Amino acid sequence: RAKAQGPGSFQLFNEEMGQRAVQTLAMQARLRRAIENQEFVAYFQPQVDVRTGAFVGMEALARWLSPERGLVPPGDFIPVAEETGLIDAICDLVLNDACRWTKAWHDAGLPQVPVAVNISGRQFHNSRRLMQTVEDALERTGLDPRFLELELTESSAMTDPENAIAVVRKLRDRGVASSIDDFGTGYSSLSVLKRFPIRKLKIDRSFVRDVTTDANDAAIVCAMIAMAAALNLKVVAEGVETDEHLDFLHGVGCDSIQGYLVAKPLPATEMEALFRQGSPLKPR
Ligand code: C2E
Ligand code: MG
Ligand code: MG
Ligand code: MG
Repeated sequence: RAKAQGPGSFQLFNEEMGQRAVQTLAMQARLRRAIENQEFVAYFQPQVDVRTGAFVGMEALARWLSPERGLVPPGDFIPVAEETGLIDAICDLVLNDACRWTKAWHDAGLPQVPVAVNISGRQFHNSRRLMQTVEDALERTGLDPRFLELELTESSAMTDPENAIAVVRKLRDRGVASSIDDFGTGYSSLSVLKRFPIRKLKIDRSFVRDVTTDANDAAIVCAMIAMAAALNLKVVAEGVETDEHLDFLHGVGCDSIQGYLVAKPLPATEMEALFRQGSPLKPR
């Protein structure tokens, strides 16, 4: 802690910054150990077609199964993992787990749907490593690349769009599709968006939550669906929790949904059990 605060000295370090740095370091050490012990797994959340009610995909979401802290959600460790570069190693574990389970389910005759894995902006920045990570996971698991999708948040896509477009193209040339996650939260320029060779837009759940009561959210969701249609993109609404959400989305022509109405993110064995039960929603 810098104690001199007289003229000409500046405070490099205050108590709060110090505490935060110590916490980050401690978290970093815990993450390293957790990576060595392979404590990260993928949970799976299904995506369902609004009209047919059938499974159309699933998203793999990172979970840290910590022996000391139990099930740790990604919000508690992804930011530190990104800051410290440990995100790559965690992504390797999640991507491999996701591809391995998906391949096993396909081989078992369960729905032949793709799995989507979240990729951070930092990973998009280092495209050589990302392509290698993807290549390794596909090779190790034998999953057909057409069943792998990568999700890039709108804000990281728009931080360096030229680079992001180039990476999305490389992935597409390898047979791996991309989608834009948390759409509506990242200030896209439409002229930039239309240059992304992506498959899906995922409408952020902050717009879905009040869609049946807030006229502005309803208008925004309608506009996003119309725009996706105009750009020939599939659209997935995130955070669909109620029948009212679903009725609204069906009414405005949304393709597919993901959310607690169908299922929370599930451990692999529970996702498999859900697949075995058949279509999770009635056709409309
Ligand atoms: P996301 O990719 O937008 O994932 C959706 C989040 O919304 C998940 O939170 C999911 O559990 C939650 N969710 C899904 N349906 C509902 C619903 O109906 N209602 C509500 N209230 N929430 C719902 P989760 O699993 O905590 O993940 C949070 C974020 O962490 C993800 O947002 C993603 O950005 C990031 N993340 C997760 N896994 C990974 C990963 O492997 N790598 C990277 N880079 N980021 C990840
Ligand atoms: Mg996502
Ligand atoms: Mg999202
Ligand atoms: Mg999100």
